[in-house]
Amino acid sequence: MSTFKAPKGTYDLIPPVSVKFLAVREAIAAPLRNSGYGYIETPGFEDVGLFARGVGESTDIVSKEMYAFETKGGDQLALRPEGTASVLRAALEASLHKKGNLPVKLWYSGSYYRYERPQAGRYRHFSQVGAEAIGAEDPALDAELIILADQAYRSLGLRNFRILLNSLGDKECRPVYREALQSFLSGLDLDAETVRRAEINPLRVLDDKRADVQKQLVGAPVLRDYLCDACKQYHEEVRALITAAGVAFEDDEKLVRGLDYYTRTTFEFVHDGLGSQSAVGGGGRYDGLSEMIGGPALPSVGWALGVDRTVLALEAEGVELDIPAATSVFAVALGEAKPVLFGLVTELRRAGVAADISYGGKGLKGAMKDANRSGARFAIVAGDRDLAEGVVQLKDLESGEQNPVAVTEVVEVLRAQLA
Ligand code: AMP
Repeated sequence: MSTFKAPKGTYDLIPPVSVKFLAVREAIAAPLRNSGYGYIETPGFEDVGLFARGVGESTDIVSKEMYAFETKGGDQLALRPEGTASVLRAALEASLHKKGNLPVKLWYSGSYYRYERPQAGRYRHFSQVGAEAIGAEDPALDAELIILADQAYRSLGLRNFRILLNSLGDKECRPVYREALQSFLSGLDLDAETVRRAEINPLRVLDDKRADVQKQLVGAPVLRDYLCDACKQYHEEVRALITAAGVAFEDDEKLVRGLDYYTRTTFEFVHDGLGSQSAVGGGGRYDGLSEMIGGPALPSVGWALGVDRTVLALEAEGVELDIPAATSVFAVALGEAKPVLFGLVTELRRAGVAADISYGGKGLKGAMKDANRSGARFAIVAGDRDLAEGVVQLKDLESGEQNPVAVTEVVEVLRAQLA
């Protein structure tokens, strides 16, 4: 072991498990690519003000969990704790909203950082795949995103997840509700920090996971009763479209989520096999975020799905992903046969066949062990005598059957067998 370890709250993705992460990212990306979303990549750090203004000063993410630092040049930066603010910043900077049709649909995949208390399913470095549809207010867009996330999870074989749905209202009706909630909260017995939160962002108190707080929240005014007609109608349309697509969801009037920028539609994907960190993904509409970070009015909607927790959910459900073998053909070179087999392996690889070869001058036994461990379907084995006869031994590692094949023909024979 080296003197160093992965920092607290982080872990390394290593084979064979790492391939699951690639498969999950790919499964989430596939329906997005297929639905008009273009790939975007933004830096791992941003001006700290982007998150303070966008995500919200009162949120735990910004006030407690952000890796903020000053650079040698005096810039105030932060490792990105989430993707939406950065993606919107980049879209505005490139004027994407002026260059093409709205909405601008983007997807991304990357690392995010939150200084949280580590526990199962909660890390300080984690991975998300996200999607944002910028610049259109249309219930079909909210529905599209929810349906695509559902499709992604189902394509992986996940079944035991639930979709929680709520509407947070807009700038007309939310302030009225906010006031009613604040007045209710002011009558409760809350600690100083929660009282402060109730003043800055009372909706977030509803999200408090502590039982003693939840107990006091029974009877709190619910946003649904305060939604204006426009918000109510919008929400009904989203619900109808999702229902028509055969995607089941649960109305959850307590769902507020931990970020300030959400308006109207909010949703979360939860998995019941994960214990307390049950959210595998979430998102919603953020109609005011663009203006909050200095842009024009651009109503938008998006989500981010956690890759780490999706992998945990797959494990909890016992889903085995259908991952093709990394190696189809493994070459075992004996005596002076290495250059010839190395050439064949190169040729196979160029022909698109996954091939590998034993390295380090091992004998037959050690090299065959490598071949078996690689998961390859075939081994090509050759020594000086085989080459003198112009052949290699082609061994089917499943049946154990072995036959000589001409060196000049082996690539074609293998391609045909593996097709
Ligand atoms: P959020 O941006 O908080 O809505 O997070 C979206 C998704 O990212 C969550 O549903 C989780 O799957 C994942 N996620 C958020 N924070 C963490 C974390 N600290 N560790 C692992 N996954 C996380």
